[in-house]
Amino acid sequence: MTKTYNFCAGPAMLPEPVMRQAQAELIDWQGMGRSVMEISHRSKEYIALAKTAEQDLRDLMAIPDNYKVIFSQGGGRGQFAAVPMNLRQKGQRADFLLSGSWSKGAIQEAEKFLPTKVVADLEIRDGLHVVPNISPNMMSANSAYFHYCSNETVDGIEINTIPDSGDVPLVADMSSNILSQPIDVSKFGIIYAGAQKNIGPSGLAVVIVREDLLDFAMPHTPSFMHYKTMAEYDSMYNTPPTYSWYLAGLVFKWLKEQGGVSAIALENAKKAELLYRCIDNSDFYINKVHPNFRSKMNVTFHLPSPDLDAVFLQGAEQAGLTALRGHRSVGGMRASIYNAMPIAGVKTLVEYMQEFTRRNK
Ligand SMILES: *Cc1c(COP(=O)(O)O)cnc(C)c1O
Repeated sequence: MTKTYNFCAGPAMLPEPVMRQAQAELIDWQGMGRSVMEISHRSKEYIALAKTAEQDLRDLMAIPDNYKVIFSQGGGRGQFAAVPMNLRQKGQRADFLLSGSWSKGAIQEAEKFLPTKVVADLEIRDGLHVVPNISPNMMSANSAYFHYCSNETVDGIEINTIPDSGDVPLVADMSSNILSQPIDVSKFGIIYAGAQKNIGPSGLAVVIVREDLLDFAMPHTPSFMHYKTMAEYDSMYNTPPTYSWYLAGLVFKWLKEQGGVSAIALENAKKAELLYRCIDNSDFYINKVHPNFRSKMNVTFHLPSPDLDAVFLQGAEQAGLTALRGHRSVGGMRASIYNAMPIAGVKTLVEYMQEFTRRNK
């Protein structure tokens, strides 16, 4: 097997040591003679695993004690519905920042449950995408919450300044940049993230909810999506996605071994810097995001002509660089470089991009 670097946006690559450990204990976990996916979620062994994973996440993100951590089914989009259902009785409408494809998806889903208002929209200045500042006076009267997406996975736009929504609870979709850099959890009402970018396999979502927000759900909220119920049952109201939770736990341990979130943030900054420098110095590749909002997780770029896309992708595959095709809605290329992507992968990609420029300029 030749060395492959997987730049898939999601489900994304997982750290190699995690995959090796999962392989080694796949059919015999902790000497039980069974796989961890074959044991009861109510067994003391599994409950210990679940609690350790939660504690490791709490340590990594410095989650304050007045927040519940929920391991939910249904991924990121599950939360697009769960958030409005759970906060429905908190106010009359919900406010949104529209910064790209995923925030748009969140708005469309929320509209099924309550009136929504886009209080700010992505701007284009000098041909570059810019995210406007958010201030408390932009919030609607009687707003239940303000929602934004901290990293627009499709568009390659990241918002590093936490929006100021004043007294209106701040809700963030952090699916694609959770655990990539330190954040102050106490500024948020709810943080959620689908797992398949920086946490583990798909199907799982992690939800971090401030306790005072647990009791505003609309009456018909399904129990397994109801934060209060899920918190009361330690996320085991129904059978949780046990194997995904186990793998998430391994990823959290791995991240701790890397030195935690602040250490991985330095690596992430270096990786992104390498790629953006390659793009900016090239006179060939184009990135249309203002430098302040360039994503450190999903680096998007276009070639001078879409006619070159297929050649670029084919050459990349031959060089062991896979899944670089941009999202179908925006075209071009996208290199997703989450926590698990080693810097060597980014260096190999940069070398390939430079060589491609020389051959096609
Ligand atoms: C991937 C992603 C989602 C959707 O996750 P699913 O698990 O497919 O529902 C939502 N928001 C963002 C920012 C994402 O990157």
